[in-house]
Amino acid sequence: MRYFIDVIIPIPLKKLFTYSITASESQFLSEGMRVAVPFGKSKIYTGIVFKIHNDAPTAYEAKDIHQILDETPIVNQKQLQLWQWISSYYMCTLGDVMRAALPSAFILESETVITKNKKTIDESVLKDDEFLIYEALHHQSSLKIHDISNILDKKNVLPIIKRLIEKEAITVEEEVYEKYKPKLVRYVKLHANFSTESALQKLLDDLSRAPKQRDVVMTLFSVSAKTKKPVKVSDLSQESHASAAIIKTLIDKGVLEEYYIQTDRVQYSGDDNEATKNLNTYQKSALSEIKKSFENHAVTLLHGVTSSGKTEVYVKLIEEALSKGKQALYLLPEIALTTQLVTRLQNYFGEQVAVFHSKYSSQERVEVWNNVLRNSAKAQIVLGARSSVFLPFDNLGLIVVDEEHEQSFKQFDPAPRYHARDTAVVLGHMHGAKVLLGSATPSLESYFNAKQNKYGFVELMQRYNDVLMPDIELVDIKDKLKKKRMKGHFSDRLLEEMTETLKAGHQIILFQNRRGFSPIIECKTCGHSPQCPNCDVSLTYHQYRNQLRCHYCGYHAAMLQDCMACGSQDLDNKGFGTEQIEEEVKQLFPDNKVARMDLDTTRGKYGYEKIITALEQQEIDILVGTQMLTKGLDFRNVKLVGIMNADNMLNFPDFRAHERSFQLMLQVAGRAGRTDERGKVLIQTYNPHHNILQQVSTNNYVEMFNEQMNDRYNFKYPPVFKQIKITLKHKDYNRVEAASVWFAKSLRQVFTEHVLGPESPPIARIRNQFHKNILVKIPKQQSLAKTKEAIIKINNSFFSIKDFRSVRVILDVDNF
Ligand code: ADP
Ligand code: ZN
Ligand code: ZN
Repeated sequence: MRYFIDVIIPIPLKKLFTYSITASESQFLSEGMRVAVPFGKSKIYTGIVFKIHNDAPTAYEAKDIHQILDETPIVNQKQLQLWQWISSYYMCTLGDVMRAALPSAFILESETVITKNKKTIDESVLKDDEFLIYEALHHQSSLKIHDISNILDKKNVLPIIKRLIEKEAITVEEEVYEKYKPKLVRYVKLHANFSTESALQKLLDDLSRAPKQRDVVMTLFSVSAKTKKPVKVSDLSQESHASAAIIKTLIDKGVLEEYYIQTDRVQYSGDDNEATKNLNTYQKSALSEIKKSFENHAVTLLHGVTSSGKTEVYVKLIEEALSKGKQALYLLPEIALTTQLVTRLQNYFGEQVAVFHSKYSSQERVEVWNNVLRNSAKAQIVLGARSSVFLPFDNLGLIVVDEEHEQSFKQFDPAPRYHARDTAVVLGHMHGAKVLLGSATPSLESYFNAKQNKYGFVELMQRYNDVLMPDIELVDIKDKLKKKRMKGHFSDRLLEEMTETLKAGHQIILFQNRRGFSPIIECKTCGHSPQCPNCDVSLTYHQYRNQLRCHYCGYHAAMLQDCMACGSQDLDNKGFGTEQIEEEVKQLFPDNKVARMDLDTTRGKYGYEKIITALEQQEIDILVGTQMLTKGLDFRNVKLVGIMNADNMLNFPDFRAHERSFQLMLQVAGRAGRTDERGKVLIQTYNPHHNILQQVSTNNYVEMFNEQMNDRYNFKYPPVFKQIKITLKHKDYNRVEAASVWFAKSLRQVFTEHVLGPESPPIARIRNQFHKNILVKIPKQQSLAKTKEAIIKINNSFFSIKDFRSVRVILDVDNF
């Protein structure tokens, strides 16, 4: 009998590849283990064993695997099941899912390594460059591509390598290596030679002429006597005030002995096991309603206003899941923004909390992965963003999706274009776990599902401590401009409130939407504004670096001195971003501390933390920021929130723009007055009668929902219809135009009036690629599976047309 395995490889292949294994390998292997497999002419990939069987592939001769990389599976059956669901629901390959699911350190990489050929050759045939490399290989047994680049001081060395191979001077071998290395911490102890009292006495006598070294030895004694634990080199150095050099001398002399212990990179150091809070009556009844709802609805939506204390309710549910010996997953839109929450959970649950951080290194992700896989005590609660749905849970009892309305739960690019909330619902189902979706401003999708009784529904409408909802005032900027009551972008009302708030010693948050309203340079003489050479967008002015930048492709150039078109020096700033607001505030309130929170100021792992801590410590009086400000921050002393301009959000060309504006504004508003005093929110707008603004100012979610749902019915948008967006991209406009017309026509033959487009998106060219969008709308009664089948069929015929083969097609199910 012959043995075969189907293997998932981390590249987008439509089908799994089958490899041949031996009988003994088949005994050892199981599904979910990694194997190194050859692919194509010379590539090696890490694959995941998907299935073990005895059926030889009919279309090709199965190759042997190179080696087995694991002793036990690193991916479990439930995960493989989830991967399959994602691949079929979101119309992508299992390889795409594997790439997204596994920490990259798990995916071995093949790197080209060069060695000298054993055969001796006539060196006179080598050119200078070639000889240098050949010579280097006399001293080193192997070289990597980048070593060769360094030696030759040039980037493109592949032609030289190719010639050396042709001249039989070198050979190429592929080296497979594992990137993950556990972090090792260095410890020291006294060498065993000095374990007797007399030897020790002699040592100390000998060291009397080297007092610093003697100090180190004495400190080592006292520290280890005190802590009764191994002593880290770093601690010893700190305690004894000795430099690393002194400790090294002692190690070299054989007085001290160094050793390493593997530690987790992702460690919690703090006080744990603070008692969880007692719920107030509203929270208590919400909790019991949720539990009751879970009896009939595995998925339940909690609509709780900002600062109602939803987190404490989640905490009780987590406690309960843990007490039943189950794991809990707490999903957040963006983990980096929620250090406050991390600390809160760690105070309650200590080491049981594992954080799966988007800014963690691959190594750190591997540690969390392994802890979850082993169901270790250190990972009973996982707190993480979108990708944590991919962790190897085996025993989930509860999933909380906090801020479930957040769009960042949907992966936009690359595939798999999955929605983590919806994936969590499927994941929960696989584990028989309960899923709680929570938000102060639920997505229309979830609220609709709750109304349809597909999800359970619970409300929590009282703020904790009965703090009143903030008082929201709309300020008409058109009127203010007419009456000359604007200073820059600030109305007199906003300035009055700011002055008063600062006088009372409170803090202020100013919100400026990042999207679509960054400062653009415009020539006052001819109207020209500098454009990105690769994309159809205006460049954005960044004062801090004095640069013009493209937000789509990263292109940047120094700020212009004069207009590129007419040479005039009269250049103007159109629109305004956070940076400009910050500048204006500094001038208006020179005695106050102003800070800014946006993508530019929060780079690096602790970028957010620094600003958040500074605000908490009241080192900042006024914080200017983008939507980052809306996410789950809890500041006791913020009393005023100013929304600089509501209109650019409302006018954004997207069918969700109104829903999203409502959510954003209520969420930022929720940052004001979270403790005792009522907060104040000022919204500046050209259009104070806009329905959404009226609904925001009266906190009327239900009215917003009903009105928006009306539009969604009328225009056949989600959640009433499902939809799949098909994007075609090519650098040649005519080709993408022809291709998209063909694609849309074929779709129309099947789906008739439910196909929209092709249309050029508002930004028609990005990174030199022209885009065309087609939308397929799917009525609820139409089979989703059949719809997808038909689209895949059309897609396949599309690629059989020679002219279209170079066009990229992107399928996005439930697009955002
Ligand atoms: P939400 O997530 O609904 O916006 P939070 O859970 O952040 O609200 O709660 C708002 C504030 O109220 C927090 O500072 C929290 O510590 C406090 N809080 C909530 N519930 C309780 C409770 N039962 N006892 C004490 N403080 C609470
Ligand atoms: Zn000009
Ligand atoms: Zn660009």
